[in-house]
Amino acid sequence: MNRFEYVSPDSVNQAVALLSATWGDSEILAGGTDLLGRMKDYVSTPKRVVNIKNLPGLHAISRENGGVRIGSLVTLDRIADASDIRQNYPALAQTVSEAASPQIRNMATIGGNLCQRPRCWYFRRGMGLLPKTPDGKSLVTEGDNRYHAILGNDGPAYFVSPSTIAPMLIAYNARIRVSGPAGPREIGLEEFFKTPQSESEREHDLKANEIVTDIFIPASKEMRGANYEVRQKEAFDWPLATASVAIQMSGNTVQSARIVMGAVAPVPWVSQEAAEAIAGKSIDEQTASAAGAAAVSKARALSQNGYKIRLATVAVKRALLIASGQPVPDVHTGKIGGAA
Ligand SMILES: Cc1cc2nc3c(=O)[nH]c(=O)nc-3n(C[C@H](O)[C@H](O)[C@H](O)COP(=O)(O)OP(=O)(O)OC[C@H]3O[C@@H](n4cnc5c(N)ncnc54)[C@H](O)[C@@H]3O)c2cc1C
Repeated sequence: MNRFEYVSPDSVNQAVALLSATWGDSEILAGGTDLLGRMKDYVSTPKRVVNIKNLPGLHAISRENGGVRIGSLVTLDRIADASDIRQNYPALAQTVSEAASPQIRNMATIGGNLCQRPRCWYFRRGMGLLPKTPDGKSLVTEGDNRYHAILGNDGPAYFVSPSTIAPMLIAYNARIRVSGPAGPREIGLEEFFKTPQSESEREHDLKANEIVTDIFIPASKEMRGANYEVRQKEAFDWPLATASVAIQMSGNTVQSARIVMGAVAPVPWVSQEAAEAIAGKSIDEQTASAAGAAAVSKARALSQNGYKIRLATVAVKRALLIASGQPVPDVHTGKIGGAA
């Protein structure tokens, strides 16, 4: 690891002032479960590390206007265990409890989870977010792309957004608040994620000297949520495809639906097509399958990741069935499981 300066500010303003306006010179340290690995691998080589764990006011889960505000330093295990979250956003509690491992959830913060960098193996080997061959072709399309994007992959970005929690939060219409030199600003979490067009851009709508301070999830009344993840094995690894859904029913028919896929695109992928496929209908095998098919109607396989299209279809179908209270087979055991 390179030598670096380590600072522990006591206020958000102090922390913002210690951050460089240019990406790469300084890095924020929260739980460290992503950043420290990158520093040890020389993928990130900041001159200054700004520890934000002492910042006051970012550790709380509190009620606000019928919704819930979660400080960016709240750890994943606290979110999964919080009675408010378990009661009002059970699909979020379940999603968080399935991320990573107990040890990582004990350290990892929600702010760090949303800002974690992609797990793309080209990026993690120091080849950049948009890795290229010497003659300017994408290393991903030319090389091993079995875990890369099937949606939003027109280039130049082919990595997949790594957070399994962001899609569920977006399905619940969450907003995110950041603080920088100009003060705080709040945007929809969906808009927070973006596809970089050049190496100087990041995959978040965040300036190098801004800090995520909290997330707000509006009232969940009458929303039925579910998350379905397809993983290679039941272990602490990132899934191959996920679907998070939040639906509002009117009697037996869908009044509105938010369907967000993970691990399929450089950003959490909100599928309007899937939502339209079930609008005004009841959810059963047939309509859930139609929504799954609609969700991938614009998918495009690279040379080695065509299998992910099928996984994403199934993830959407099963998340919808679970949200509407219907049993689905467990992806690993084949056993019929209950609703989330
Ligand atoms: C083996 C393994 C399995 C995993 N499985 C999953 C999984 O299934 N699902 C999933 O979602 N994640 C998974 N993760 C990722 C894990 O959830 C993240 O590493 C963790 O949430 C990051 O949080 P942290 O507080 O440790 O962040 P840090 O490592 O401290 O920071 C991560 C990044 O975010 C930036 N950052 C941190 N906090 C803020 C802030 N408040 N404002 C602005 N920038 C900030 C940092 O500068 C850094 O670049 C896994 C990780 C490992 C190691």
